[in-house]
Amino acid sequence: RKIFTSFPLTSTFELSSDDAHHVMVVLRHKVGDSIAVTDSTGTTYDCIITQIENHAVFLTPAHKISDAVISNGKIILAAGLLKNDRFEWIVQKAVELGVDRIIPVQMNHCVVKLNETRQQDKIKRWQKIALEAAKQCGRNDVPEITAVFDISKLVKEYRDVRFVVPYEQETAPFHDICQQVRTGDIVICIGPEGGFDKNEIALLREKIPWCRTVSLGTRILRAETAAIAAISIIMYERGF
Ligand code: SAM
Repeated sequence: RKIFTSFPLTSTFELSSDDAHHVMVVLRHKVGDSIAVTDSTGTTYDCIITQIENHAVFLTPAHKISDAVISNGKIILAAGLLKNDRFEWIVQKAVELGVDRIIPVQMNHCVVKLNETRQQDKIKRWQKIALEAAKQCGRNDVPEITAVFDISKLVKEYRDVRFVVPYEQETAPFHDICQQVRTGDIVICIGPEGGFDKNEIALLREKIPWCRTVSLGTRILRAETAAIAAISIIMYERGF
């Protein structure tokens, strides 16, 4: 399990209470032990435990272990909201597979409609799941979970990024565009339980200069399966 900070490491710092508990109770570390910590820039340092006081653990960075990983383009998952814990599952698996950002999207055929307060609660929960998944799989950064977008906001803010849209009514195979997704930033846009509204597909095609709707086969996949399949294809093409 990795430890992350939300700030650059320059001097002695205190661990979050969750991490302090993990370090003291689970790992049973003592003053003088060293732990690898990745900071907000993605740089990993060997840090020495310099003080343990009540439930607080203080560390001092000793030396750099590794620099931030330079990626050959960001993978952004924009996925329709799903009911129950299905979106949580997508967040966990997408983080493990290497996405850089997750955008929850309120689409026309979503079964769930979240009001402002519930959105805030859900985003906090998804951020916690992303952090835990990042720690568990040992990646050097924690993907961002953005606010809930609607399709208009998505096309407005990401119109300069290339879009791959697995669409249940498309017949052109993903395979046809594989070579074009090997580098650069890509948004993978996945529909909700009820699939895409035709108007949403029309808007994506009209407003996004590089937008490719693709098929993932003749079977209708659950939204989370489609998300994981699309991310995996792109990761495979990128060689990691
Ligand atoms: N009702 C099921 C559910 O609750 O998950 C299936 C939903 S499916 C319509 C949701 C999304 O997964 C679609 O909008 C699309 O983005 C993607 N998808 C599923 N099967 C697909 C396929 N064969 N080809 C391309 N995209 C697919």
